[in-house]
Amino acid sequence: MTEIRQDAAAEPHVGDRIAARARALARPLGVGLVLALAAIPAGLAPWQAVAGYGAFAGALLLWPSSREDARARARARARSRAANAVHPDFAVIEALDLPTIVFDRETQVVRQNSAAKLLVGEYPDRASLSARIRSPAILELVARVVARGLPESVEHSERVPSERWHEVRVAPVNPGAEPDRRLYVLTYRDLTEARRMDRMRTDFVANASHELRTPLASLMGFIETLQGPARNDEAARTRFFAIMLEQAQRMARLIDDLLSLSRLEMRAHVAPEGEVDLSRTLTHVIDTLKPMASELGVTIDLALPQEPVVVTGDVDELIQVFSNLIENACKYGQTGKRVLVTVANSDGDGAHVTVQDFGPGIAKEHVPRLTERFYRVDVESSRTKKGTGLGLAIVKHILARHRARLVVKSVPGEGSAFTVKFSSAKPSSSPLSKEIYQ
Ligand code: ADP
Repeated sequence: MTEIRQDAAAEPHVGDRIAARARALARPLGVGLVLALAAIPAGLAPWQAVAGYGAFAGALLLWPSSREDARARARARARSRAANAVHPDFAVIEALDLPTIVFDRETQVVRQNSAAKLLVGEYPDRASLSARIRSPAILELVARVVARGLPESVEHSERVPSERWHEVRVAPVNPGAEPDRRLYVLTYRDLTEARRMDRMRTDFVANASHELRTPLASLMGFIETLQGPARNDEAARTRFFAIMLEQAQRMARLIDDLLSLSRLEMRAHVAPEGEVDLSRTLTHVIDTLKPMASELGVTIDLALPQEPVVVTGDVDELIQVFSNLIENACKYGQTGKRVLVTVANSDGDGAHVTVQDFGPGIAKEHVPRLTERFYRVDVESSRTKKGTGLGLAIVKHILARHRARLVVKSVPGEGSAFTVKFSSAKPSSSPLSKEIYQ
């Protein structure tokens, strides 16, 4: 950056005008002086020569010259334009999406870009930084940088209107300039997204560890009991081994789901390329889930359109999606005794698959959070139903890869409908691989 401050625009000073005129008229003034001096030996009194030359020079210098005045006025106008124009450096900060404020040694704001106006509000002309920035940490940072002349930054967080984190950096712009011409730049770098990701990661690790720890603690407890008091108790051993197997299976399910999630995250940006016939896929999924459904006393009905509905996708992943949704509908909507799966293909609106149950439904406040990892409406009910709390998170990831959406509608007391909306269905072009449907 270069020196930014401009002199105020002004009409040329009278003294400056005369000096400029003297430079322009140097030759006639010189000739006049020689003539005046030459006239003295020729009989002119010195005072007459001086007075005569003075009158001549004064008239010459002060006589209005329209050309020069026009030039002077043009120069003044140019200076005025330069003073009012946005300095190229200010144009640069305006183009940045980083909230940026330029201020002087007295912490008066010289310029702020639109991003800074949005973040802290617009400063009135020549207002002090503290008119909008109230954080003591930022104001102390500003004072330190002005005193020491070295760049520094602090982290700043706000809770209102929403939780946000920023790195605020203050740096001198022109440290070599005269003290009263020094400028400083304050920038905000948004750390909110990075912080949110950090928190999600930590929460996820804490949740996953907790979920694994519970069955592990139970396994360890039973092992100790079997080694000690129940060593010779045949009936207790049989009972405990059954519980231990259940706990080990729970851990295995959890690990499988965690691995599924991490694999999906790795492939998040690779769009699937296969073709999936939704009617055939759903028929296959329902066939495999029928034993589980009948154990729960639930019947699964499938409503298919006449025409095959084919979407672009990964068949194994879509089987996972529909299995999860139908299994949930059977488990959590068990009291409704019926699950209805509908495939629809509306022109222009793409293919839809709806899994509807007639169970207790889900209260409104839970619906937006269902696809969060480990989120359950009722933790105990999920555990007894062999849930991991990761099923719908996996569904969400798979659908994101398929550019499809999950829409959940639920009426407490009447049941829930989970609809998968594919962006477009395509006509079937090749026979689908049979083996996966067997
Ligand atoms: P889980 O492994 O616990 O089933 P999911 O991610 O599949 O985890 O589902 C998250 C939670 O959403 C479940 O624990 C349950 O509380 C709720 N839920 C999912 N599907 C339904 C449904 N059809 N009816 C009522 N609640 C449901």
